[in-house]
Amino acid sequence: MSGAEQLRRLPKVDRVLDHPALVELGLRRAIVHRLVVAAIERERGRVLAALELGAPLLAPVASLERIAATVRAQLDDWLSPHPRPVLNATGVLLHTNLGRAPLSTAAREAALAAAGYCELEIELDTGKRGSRLAHLSPLLACLFQAEDALVVNNGAAALLLACTALGAPTPDAAGGVALSLGQHVEIGDGFRVADMAAAGGVPIVAVGSTNRTHLRDYAAALDQPAPERVSALLWAHRSNFEQHGFVAEIELGELAKLARAHSVPLIADLGSGLVDGHDQIADPTVASYIEQGATIVSFSGDKLLGGPQAGLLAGSAAAIARCRRHPLARALRCGKLALAALHATAAAHLREGTPSLPLHTMLSANHEQLRDRALRLCAALSWPDHCVRSSFATVGGGSLPGHELASVALVPDLQSVQRSAHDAAAILRRGRIPMVGRVHAGELWLDLRTLVEVEDQVLLASLRQLS
Ligand SMILES: *Cc1c(COP(=O)(O)O)cnc(C)c1O
Repeated sequence: MSGAEQLRRLPKVDRVLDHPALVELGLRRAIVHRLVVAAIERERGRVLAALELGAPLLAPVASLERIAATVRAQLDDWLSPHPRPVLNATGVLLHTNLGRAPLSTAAREAALAAAGYCELEIELDTGKRGSRLAHLSPLLACLFQAEDALVVNNGAAALLLACTALGAPTPDAAGGVALSLGQHVEIGDGFRVADMAAAGGVPIVAVGSTNRTHLRDYAAALDQPAPERVSALLWAHRSNFEQHGFVAEIELGELAKLARAHSVPLIADLGSGLVDGHDQIADPTVASYIEQGATIVSFSGDKLLGGPQAGLLAGSAAAIARCRRHPLARALRCGKLALAALHATAAAHLREGTPSLPLHTMLSANHEQLRDRALRLCAALSWPDHCVRSSFATVGGGSLPGHELASVALVPDLQSVQRSAHDAAAILRRGRIPMVGRVHAGELWLDLRTLVEVEDQVLLASLRQLS
């Protein structure tokens, strides 16, 4: 068949548009039209590429039926909810790619309740305009033992706001924020703390060296003549790496004294936002940073706090007030769904003992119980006991570098079914309720610590796909 004949066999746009599989969806024709044209163009491109190479087509020119089915699959995907829930079998408790902290039932219900009209910015007592943080700020301030607190969209926004508002030029200083080279941290997806902090136009001034930074390095940035003097100091928690060897970093408390002596604010980007000391967690708490003299601490709502994506600032009333009044505060403000979920999460932290949040249930899951459950699941699947292995879970989400939690994993025997670990991982990911595991040294590891909140029958239904 000639090339021209092949191309003539491509279906006509209007005929595909009239296919019942597309018509029955009742969607706007212009929307469907665009997808149909794109699908036909892709097919035309495939035919032309083969013609150019003088090669035969690997598959016949797609029929009207096939093009309609391709477009229907795309539309079905758009019409179904995303992001879909997944089962986290990675053993990383705060997995950024999987939505970090899972919300508690109370937090989910609170977000749902706020989804309609709600008292977001009205004082119900007086009928006057109110603040969306009227209830949350005092609660958070109390929780973190700070004078005041503020909430924005995420941790990066909190850092940006604090650096932009507090690092602005003053009569005594040119503006800018000093940050040790040893704390120029890169977080996920190529974003760097120093770049995010500077995105509001306040420059970040690097002080010290990669491995060693001394108090005198910060002091030098503060002792400059006014046109070169920085307006604030920044301390960034090394949330995802550790340094060993010939290293020196001054203590936060020492830096706080220097900041106070020069009457400049000390911004501490903690990242993880731990509320209370926890035997499983070696991270510093927000309150400890404030006690050591940080003027303002920035951290995320969806890391160790165990709540929704949000950025929190806790610290002195004056510093929080400067942040709150800055125009960026309006640009970065947090939506009502997240605020409602954050309120419920913060309330859970007010109670004695371990907070009843999914993150804390996973953190405190007992190793013996994880093993017993693994053996039970294996028995139900008729998998041999050697599929139960000791593993290590990690907290993730930019907290606790190098810190591991003893855990238990199911490692399916894939040799008997002649599958590679990558194939098995793909089968689980593409299941009705997708499960995401970890491929390690040619094996598929499914960690049970991140699955403690999932019902047995849900897990079993997923794992049976491997048999
Ligand atoms: C996670 C993290 C951030 C960014 O917080 P997001 O909530 O992801 O925007 C900033 N700084 C540090 C130190 C972090 O660990």
